[in-house]
Amino acid sequence: MKRAIFPGSFDPFTIGHYSIVLRGLELFDEIVIGVGVNLSKKSLFPIEKRLEIIEQAFKNDQRVKIKQYNSLTVDFANEVQANFILRGIRTVGDFEYEHTTADNNHKLSGIETVVLFTEAQYSFISSTVVRDLLAYNKDISRFLPPNVKL
Ligand code: ADP
Repeated sequence: MKRAIFPGSFDPFTIGHYSIVLRGLELFDEIVIGVGVNLSKKSLFPIEKRLEIIEQAFKNDQRVKIKQYNSLTVDFANEVQANFILRGIRTVGDFEYEHTTADNNHKLSGIETVVLFTEAQYSFISSTVVRDLLAYNKDISRFLPPNVKL
């Protein structure tokens, strides 16, 4: 059984995140989406809402589990018995960050990070863009996964 975690803030979960999980399901039997509760990082959406959005997106897929976590990512992976971390890359900036984090996590616990490059049509989508548009009352439905209502 190949199990990966997909950790992130998901403030909120976007169609870019959704695409990474769907593509990850071609590689892994099960993906545990870990929603980080980071006390030093202020989020727009409360944790309950961030979890609910992801639940709506995957309500018909038993292979996807959703959990909040409040620990080091590698400890969360151990807790749910996952051997892989799944992440996505859009830009060179993402690459730098993911590379360093993956190296650290491998040194800390031997866990492998599997990175997927974004699909071109989602490369400009981020939670930050969604939050900015929401602040100006713009429609953001096309940035969300199918079947998700805020
Ligand atoms: P974090 O705060 O840990 O960076 P995010 O919620 O911003 O968490 O993102 C989680 C993961 O999803 C990261 O690996 C990020 O690079 C990736 N990601 C975010 N948006 C996209 C996108 N549009 N396409 C591909 N990967 C993405």
